[in-house]
Amino acid sequence: MYFQLNQLSMTYPSGKKALKDVTLALKSPNLIGLLGPNGAGKSTLMQLLVAGLLPTGGEILLDGAPLLQSEQLLKSKLGYLPQTFGLYEELTVYQFLDYMAALKQIPDRKQAILSALSDTHLEDKKKVKIRTLSGGQRQRVGIAQALLGNPEFLIFDEPTVGLDPEERISFRNLFSRMAQERLVLLSTHIIEDVQSVCNQLIVIHHGCILFSGTPAELIQRAEGHVGIFEETSSLQETHVSITSRVNTSKGVICRAVADRLPVYVSPAEPTLEDAYLYLILQEDTK
Ligand code: ADP
Ligand code: MG
Repeated sequence: MYFQLNQLSMTYPSGKKALKDVTLALKSPNLIGLLGPNGAGKSTLMQLLVAGLLPTGGEILLDGAPLLQSEQLLKSKLGYLPQTFGLYEELTVYQFLDYMAALKQIPDRKQAILSALSDTHLEDKKKVKIRTLSGGQRQRVGIAQALLGNPEFLIFDEPTVGLDPEERISFRNLFSRMAQERLVLLSTHIIEDVQSVCNQLIVIHHGCILFSGTPAELIQRAEGHVGIFEETSSLQETHVSITSRVNTSKGVICRAVADRLPVYVSPAEPTLEDAYLYLILQEDTK
């Protein structure tokens, strides 16, 4: 299964250009991280991929055919967790999934539900009412409904928002397991969610794709543009963008990115976060 996006654009009726000329290929199996600041266009792109929105320019091909012609096919192959997802508070987890499975016209609902519950480690919650669940458990229910019917293509819009660090790790493991045989696209603005598990990263900002490639390729781009220095009151921190400040016994150590590192900055190995910030900052200062 693959998606080809050709010069895809989306301008909302308000005049807001949320996506501008996006050309991308998404191939299965793969775990792809869609990374970008708030307002970058991540949710818009995902809604276009699930045919929940119609593009105002360009096209999306699914296995070579226009998405709208394949809409029925897409629905049967697709699992989607929107960014805001209402759960029916008074239903139990099982009842809710049964309802969603019925909407998706899944033939063997019981089997599909048990399998989704097992994949999301929710078996012991199936008889529990949704309103009693924690934030992380609710997100699991959202993911479980996306998994119903074992779709080949999974889209999760900011699935780790509101999760504690432990839950995040367990979700990451879940995503990489799911991506072994599928195309999983997940959006986030949290680097830790994508750095250890995604094979491909797509960075989007102001509706444009700034980067598509492996995490290692993104890091390479920032080589020679990252450094550290000790913060002193006399130093004028010019020509650098500080990405973090750490208190140490020796004082405050700053990490910074810059096109050209000033002499007071000692070069450092870029992390994925440095590379991402460098890319975004470069774009912002254009
Ligand atoms: P992200 O998911 O990366 O935060 P979105 O795709 O939600 O970004 O939004 C991209 C841009 O489009 C933002 O500036 C947002 O305010 C705008 N936008 C999103 N939905 C609509 C809409 N229905 N009408 C008008 N503007 C919208
Ligand atoms: Mg969004």
